[in-house]
Amino acid sequence: MAKKKPFIKLQCKECKRINYFTHKSKGMIEEKLLLKKFCKWCRKHTAHKEMKK
Ligand SMILES: [Zn+2]
Repeated sequence: MAKKKPFIKLQCKECKRINYFTHKSKGMIEEKLLLKKFCKWCRKHTAHKEMKK
């Protein structure tokens, strides 16, 4: 069976919208991602938190 890549959503901490989808590459450390990304809803760069599922 094919293994699915674990994939994650990045949620804006301010408006709680899901703005980005990404997936973890193999061997990536199991820590919560917190990235600064541009949120089109807040119209600024905000912290985006990793959401599983
Ligand atoms: Zn936002």
